Amino acid sequence: MSRYFSKRHESLIPYVPGEQPQNRRFLKLNTNESPYPVSEKAMEYVSTNLRPLQLYSDPECVIIRSGIAELYGLHPDQIIAGNGSDEILNFLFMAFCDEERPAVFPDITYGFYPVFAQLNHIPYTEIPLQDDFSICISDYIGINKNIFIANPNAPTGMVISLEDIKTIALSNPHNIVVIDEAYVDFGAESAVGLVNECDNLVVVQTFSKSRSMAGARLGFAVGSRELIADMNTLRYSTNPYNVNSYSMILGAGVLTDEDYTRSNCNETIRTREYTVRELENLGFTVLDSKANFIFAASDEIEGGVLYERLKDEGVLVRHFTKPRISNYNRITIGTMEQMDELLSKIKMIIGR
Ligand code: PMP
Repeated sequence: MSRYFSKRHESLIPYVPGEQPQNRRFLKLNTNESPYPVSEKAMEYVSTNLRPLQLYSDPECVIIRSGIAELYGLHPDQIIAGNGSDEILNFLFMAFCDEERPAVFPDITYGFYPVFAQLNHIPYTEIPLQDDFSICISDYIGINKNIFIANPNAPTGMVISLEDIKTIALSNPHNIVVIDEAYVDFGAESAVGLVNECDNLVVVQTFSKSRSMAGARLGFAVGSRELIADMNTLRYSTNPYNVNSYSMILGAGVLTDEDYTRSNCNETIRTREYTVRELENLGFTVLDSKANFIFAASDEIEGGVLYERLKDEGVLVRHFTKPRISNYNRITIGTMEQMDELLSKIKMIIGR
């Protein structure tokens, strides 16, 4: 730390992204990217519609907001786009949380939530998941804090119901409820349809996973016009050109090829179910995931050891050292061939 670093950030512990090795070819099953390339139709759309890059990008992100509005039957003013959904989440912490409205989220969830809270000097509470790693809904009823829930949750992949989301939102009328749906397209139900009923609900989604655009960085939130307007106050005070022209047009192109997105998601779901069955046959415990990853543990090999052994074999998965989950590994669902490669490496490591 330099002697110039602001005292305000002295104790900030930054988010640690999953490894992105550039020097060796790994089978990458560690950061929940799509194994499928961006739609070809979308690439063609970019080649005909890209605005000249010497011009700034559209600060209103009209093309992408209207595409999302059409997809969900909403007004474009109910949508804000961001440089990945991480940026959107940061805007939410910045815009709505403070000493009077602290944040609350599960103790085992997306690791960026506590970082955004610390970055913005927002007090926060982490509520323990239950023993089976499910979220205890009653913990959030009338809690009087701004609530952040990933649904499906990460790294468990487990879901809560729309009914429970509605109950939580209605019981906290003085606070916002953020549902982070980064993984919703792989078998969960979206809460987007609730935003007109619950004016304190914000639903966050990303183009990184089901739409294969992790490297292009495009995310969005939907909510009431008022909540979105507040977020725009923060966006225009940070970076009005937060979404670059290329990613914006690519995202609009991807939205013209929903059949491709749907078919990739269905293939991921099929591959997930196959992988779960195979791992269970090898004695693994696998949580009930509706995401493009699974969270798995074995009594035969400690989670950290399996992570290291797989890495030696050229396969990257994600291991977390938090005590309650240190025996687990989070494994991204790739193609069927990639999962067969993973399974054969695991069999070799555990001696089957
Ligand atoms: N939410 C959750 C739960 C995630 O796992 C991720 C991916 N790391 C994100 C949000 C952010 O995704 P992105 O910034 O790529 O949209």
